[in-house]
Amino acid sequence: MNDYEKRSWTEINLTQLQKNYQICRGLLPMNKKVMAVVKADGYGHGDVEVAQALEEMGVMDFAVSNVHEGIRLRQSGIKGSILILGYTPLEYGQKLFDYDLMQTLISESYADAFAKMNIPVKCQFAIDTGMNRIGLNADELEYCEDIIRDFSKKVNLIGVYTHLCVADCNTENELIFTNDQIIKFDKLANLLEDLNFAYIHCLNSAGSLWHDSEISNFVRLGIILYGLKPNSLNVLPNGIKPILTWKSVVSMVKTIRAGASIGYGRSYVADHDMRVATIPTGYADGYNRMLSNQGYVLINGEKAFVVGRVCMDQFMVDVTEIDSVNMGTEVVLIGECGKEHISADDIADMIETIGYEIVCDMGKRVPRLYKRDGNDN
Ligand SMILES: *Cc1c(COP(=O)(O)O)cnc(C)c1O
Repeated sequence: MNDYEKRSWTEINLTQLQKNYQICRGLLPMNKKVMAVVKADGYGHGDVEVAQALEEMGVMDFAVSNVHEGIRLRQSGIKGSILILGYTPLEYGQKLFDYDLMQTLISESYADAFAKMNIPVKCQFAIDTGMNRIGLNADELEYCEDIIRDFSKKVNLIGVYTHLCVADCNTENELIFTNDQIIKFDKLANLLEDLNFAYIHCLNSAGSLWHDSEISNFVRLGIILYGLKPNSLNVLPNGIKPILTWKSVVSMVKTIRAGASIGYGRSYVADHDMRVATIPTGYADGYNRMLSNQGYVLINGEKAFVVGRVCMDQFMVDVTEIDSVNMGTEVVLIGECGKEHISADDIADMIETIGYEIVCDMGKRVPRLYKRDGNDN
């Protein structure tokens, strides 16, 4: 990257992505394949680049949230299967077929309408085992079986899946709940065994690490491939690391006197003379405004705390105690810097959200640079 483009940018380590995949692969039984979840632009990391790097590792199945994400992957040359996890208006039926995308059947009514289109789009039935989001209610086992058998004659049905909602928690109640979800799912899938579904799956990242579903032949891995935790209390397997670094630079350094305020709303008032650096990244880049007077960045291997409110395109940090901070000095918003590091999960904890949201929120105007070990492009 040219220095003149250095305002706010990310560096995404595709070699680390491939390592994360390999570690997960190594922990899974051989009879389970990995479906890589690359929805929301690969959790903000770039869906096409992530999918390509995983295809190199032999991944042949992907999941996205909507038809547009699916079409984009296809148009970029991704060859693997692509499952759409969410709602697609039926007006897109022909597109689903033309781009060889698999659609989730969200409910009986959706499946009905889908069958009436009379286009042989590959599809998978969602089963609701307790999340109450989408799918057929697994508590009504017979109903589920009947519906699925019925639709297996009317549509090109090649799979069933469910989604776990507390697989990242290890309190007793949540372990029991997850276990129940998996038992319900496995029971239904067993009843349908003669339909020989190509896709049977229920484990997300957390599920694949801490639970098992005997009948499943796939796991759906998202967050762990990007090196983040399903839940900040989790401990990830050795060697799994975040693949993303977010950087910016110092645009200006100034000294302010005790009593001066900083930024909109004058929410920070200096109680001593201080040195303040301005950073040309803001909430429009995805640097969350909740980090006002709370977050920190890394400069020259030290923490510099946010002072005042995060603006749309800039924010200020306290560099009073940090040497050699000048215009152009590199700033790490997420990543490692000397002995310090700050992850998307750390930032999420400060503002009571999850790492997923931090990386998904990174703005379109923040360029993604892709790196592999041994080359810087
Ligand atoms: C997002 C999503 C996943 C991936 O979850 P992670 O926690 O990122 O592994 C799997 N399945 C469904 C249905 C999803 O929506």
